[in-house]
Amino acid sequence: MQPRYPFLRLEDVNAPFIPEINRRVADVIASGRYIGGEEVAKFEENLCRMHGCSFAIGVSNGLDALRLILRAYIEMGTMAPGDEIIVPANTYIASVLAISDSGLKPVLVEPDPSTSNLDISRIAGAITPRTRGIMPVHLYGRVCWSEMLEDIARRHNLKVIEDNAQAIGASFTDPSGHRRLTGNLGDAAAFSFYPTKNIGAMGDAGAVTTSDPELAATVRALANYGADRRYHNIYKGLNCRLDPVQAAVLNVKLPFTDRENGYRREIARIYNEALSGCSAVKSGRVILPSFPANEGNMVWHQYVLHVADREAFIRMLDSHGIGWDIHYATPPHRQPCYAGCFTSPLPITDMLAERCVSLPVTRTTPLSDAAEIAEILSKELSRS
Ligand SMILES: *Cc1c(COP(=O)(O)O)cnc(C)c1O
Repeated sequence: MQPRYPFLRLEDVNAPFIPEINRRVADVIASGRYIGGEEVAKFEENLCRMHGCSFAIGVSNGLDALRLILRAYIEMGTMAPGDEIIVPANTYIASVLAISDSGLKPVLVEPDPSTSNLDISRIAGAITPRTRGIMPVHLYGRVCWSEMLEDIARRHNLKVIEDNAQAIGASFTDPSGHRRLTGNLGDAAAFSFYPTKNIGAMGDAGAVTTSDPELAATVRALANYGADRRYHNIYKGLNCRLDPVQAAVLNVKLPFTDRENGYRREIARIYNEALSGCSAVKSGRVILPSFPANEGNMVWHQYVLHVADREAFIRMLDSHGIGWDIHYATPPHRQPCYAGCFTSPLPITDMLAERCVSLPVTRTTPLSDAAEIAEILSKELSRS
């Protein structure tokens, strides 16, 4: 049975866009051009213009975007198998898979429990002579960036590869007031347009952005069998191209990124305003996600609470028909595929994984429903 307040229904998220998507997809189908073509080229232009970077390459999905960036750095001689990449321990597993897939070594670093993002102050302690890169993940749509991170990367000559899968449209404002979007903060960035992301395709899709011409050319070739021109393969490449049908979908949705993110922010604000005074929140049994000082720094891919007794909390949500999800119950270092690989304890990562629970934060939830959810929870969290 559907809960009274479903967590996510993608048909609701996409409903406003469907008439235009139907037109654009019909044009792709009629064009006879099913690989590459106009929609893919336009999508790459749109993504570049939006982010102010020099190059965007549409690719098959977010994991491939990350893999292609790392493979490209290996082909370019910037990295070699066995080199280390620093990555937050509490990320979605794709970030870690991309690193180990390329024969590189993921070095897991604990998050800051107040943001759930990589604890930048721990990076310096994780650097060794083999460190070649840092992969900040803008988890839940919250920017993971600071002057300190830029400084460490510069001093140690490290590539910074943003995992921007969850944060399209988020921005970092530097001390001089200059605003830059995530995806244009580091040396290269990976985007995912998996259907549940803030801007989702209707299937798999992803992108790489960079302003490095050599990296861009290498990624583009690697994604197309390693060919720099037709039937001329300079790398043992892959087939990771963006589907033009998905590009058409994304060209319709991309201009609405700020509007969609703003809707999520409104829901988050409704929850936070209703819950911040509750006794369970004041006592720390329930921790709300904070609003960053600069609201553009967070695009609310997920609205994640941390609760000491998650089982009881979920029973309470279920009893009111409030949809929920968990991002993520099992961190990468505890997945069977990495058994024996990561031996240092990661107590903060483990604690966050045990306590996190996500509430509905998309267009599936009308603002009036968000207000009802907030009211139910504020009563529940005020019982002593
Ligand atoms: C979704 C996601 C990915 C992978 O993207 P796919 O398009 O699903 O391959 C990578 N990193 C993070 C943080 C993600 O949330």
